[in-house]
Amino acid sequence: MKNQDYLDRWTSSIQNNYGTPSITLVKGKGLVVEDAEGKKYLDFLGGIATNVLGHAHPAVVRAVTHQINTLGHVSNFYAHPHVVELAEKLKSFTGDADAKVFFAQSGAEANEAALKLSRRTGRSRIVAAQGAFHGRTMGALSLTGQPSKREPFLPLLKGVKHVPYGDIESMRRAVNKKTAMVIIEPIMGEAGVIVPPAGYLQGVREICDATGALMVMDCVQTGMGRTGDWFGYEYSGITPDVITLAKGLGGGLPLGAMIALGASAYLFQAGDHGSTFGGNPVTTAAALAVIKVIEKDSLMVAAVLHGNHLLQEVALISGVKEVRGAGLLIGIEFDSDIAQQVSTKMLDAGVLVNAATANTLRIAPALNVSTAQITKFILILGKVLSDVE
Ligand SMILES: *Cc1c(COP(=O)(O)O)cnc(C)c1O
Repeated sequence: MKNQDYLDRWTSSIQNNYGTPSITLVKGKGLVVEDAEGKKYLDFLGGIATNVLGHAHPAVVRAVTHQINTLGHVSNFYAHPHVVELAEKLKSFTGDADAKVFFAQSGAEANEAALKLSRRTGRSRIVAAQGAFHGRTMGALSLTGQPSKREPFLPLLKGVKHVPYGDIESMRRAVNKKTAMVIIEPIMGEAGVIVPPAGYLQGVREICDATGALMVMDCVQTGMGRTGDWFGYEYSGITPDVITLAKGLGGGLPLGAMIALGASAYLFQAGDHGSTFGGNPVTTAAALAVIKVIEKDSLMVAAVLHGNHLLQEVALISGVKEVRGAGLLIGIEFDSDIAQQVSTKMLDAGVLVNAATANTLRIAPALNVSTAQITKFILILGKVLSDVE
């Protein structure tokens, strides 16, 4: 079977919501994936910031294989050691003794859980950021601040206001004593890796403190070590009320989490929320393996070093207007709207990246990327850009 055979079958059997992909991937090891025709690619997208340890990492493979051989699924009528252990780990990363975790499968579900939790404050209004991405289910889509994704599906939840990201005065005007929650990404990923100005997260924290609104940090994309810490907001010194995670959490397996801190950890009552697969023994085994490797191999330190190296080197390439991000979540903005063209040429040259917006390429390679792979990426990007120019 060739790439194109699968793509034809995709078109006739898969809904058109994604459009048709460009290649068919069949295997991977580390940061290298292989298509149906045996062509190899350097994976600098990592399943959209998801494969934090690359593909087929032995620790994840071992943990998942052992667990599926032992006990695959139990439902939340019963406890499982991995679920408890992972919740305790995540709790320890927050530094909050009251923190409690709800497990789901995806980022959208983690944010849905936060949304329902916020209703338990007795308030219902929400403030989110323009351009933000919080997921595609109707609740999460109501939080998402991208008109193109929202408009076909109106009406969405009432009472959600979107303010310009990074503008603390707009935030102050929008949030009041009727606001149940403010939801913010530490860095806006899907919007093109937008980093907020210094002091922004602290400002949002102050506004939430003054009004009693829950501060929800959507760390779905920034989390699991990608920006050099576990969640992505830690540099700011604040503590949110709620943290949502997914993408990197399961190291490629579907796992999301909503962590409520402090008093908000006590808002949900028995029967308030649930998920059949939430906190499944296999996906939580994968997450525990991921965390162990990140700690053992100091991958958060590596993410920052590699990230800084990329920021410096990519900025020097002709045609690059700005490089931004933290750790290994990086946006490369061009002088014009060539991101899709660059992404396609990178694919031809054997590198997977993504055009997050018309003028910005996003990269989110695995945290265990090597210096040689970074060098190769920079070289190929330079060549591709000199072609496109
Ligand atoms: C990807 C993403 C989501 C949605 O996650 P899904 O698993 O696709 O539902 C939510 N928030 C942020 C910040 C994301 O990057």
